[in-house]
Amino acid sequence: MALVTLKHVLNRACKEGYAVGAFNFFTLENLIGLAKGAKAKNSPVIAMASVGAMKIMGEKTVVGACQGVADDFGIDMVLHLDHATDYDVIRRCVDNGFTSVMIDASSKSYQENVDITARVVEYASRYGVSVEAELGHVGGKEDDISVDEREALFTVPEDAVRFVRDTGIDALAVAVGTVHGFYKSEPKLDFPRIAKIHELLPEMPLVLHGGTGVPDDDFRKAIQLGMRKINVGTELKVHGVFDVSREAYDTEPSHDPRKVASKVIDACAKIVEEKIDVMGCAGKA
Ligand SMILES: [Zn+2]
Repeated sequence: MALVTLKHVLNRACKEGYAVGAFNFFTLENLIGLAKGAKAKNSPVIAMASVGAMKIMGEKTVVGACQGVADDFGIDMVLHLDHATDYDVIRRCVDNGFTSVMIDASSKSYQENVDITARVVEYASRYGVSVEAELGHVGGKEDDISVDEREALFTVPEDAVRFVRDTGIDALAVAVGTVHGFYKSEPKLDFPRIAKIHELLPEMPLVLHGGTGVPDDDFRKAIQLGMRKINVGTELKVHGVFDVSREAYDTEPSHDPRKVASKVIDACAKIVEEKIDVMGCAGKA
């Protein structure tokens, strides 16, 4: 079974009104855990490699591992490049077999964002690779800005319509109140804004970044209003991989790394299964 495109899995999600989980991976056990969780729920899954993760693993290793894992588990897996800002990095990923890429020029001006995003779409579409882009700016908890300043970076619905038309993207990441990383206080999603963007762009899959720590009911409501891809990274990184590895290394008397690997795989699979249930993509493989 080959890797599938983002467009392929989100097409059905749009028709049937659910979201597909997109999960970052940093290690092989992490990746296998995503596949195991998706398989258990008979769900499609989006495996996301960040630019930083790829610097450590290498593009060919990432692609080869994903193809192998998707085959071994017999699942529909999208291999997606998360938050790339550099055209050449994206081009190398397209050339090496990624099936989806995100160009994130959301910190640039509207026109610069359109220009580079359109250029990425032009290249990726030649190879049937899907493209996600971001308008407005999601940002991270490390950005030391006030609530007002953050709201000023929220996606403007009318601009979103223009952006989609000007670029030809396959999925649109929107800034509607989430941030990357753990939340200091409960996130406050701007549901009317999500509804408005979806109303103006009913065919465009919307993407929610910063899914770690968003309450399940907020996820459900966001999906009802048009979210079709939800990103979860930090929870896997910290709770799935780091904490579990540390505890297993500290407590495993056999000094056998395979035992540690199995625990990481199962912890990641469990997180993925829980998210899949909330997103509504169980049984949609
Ligand atoms: Zn993100």
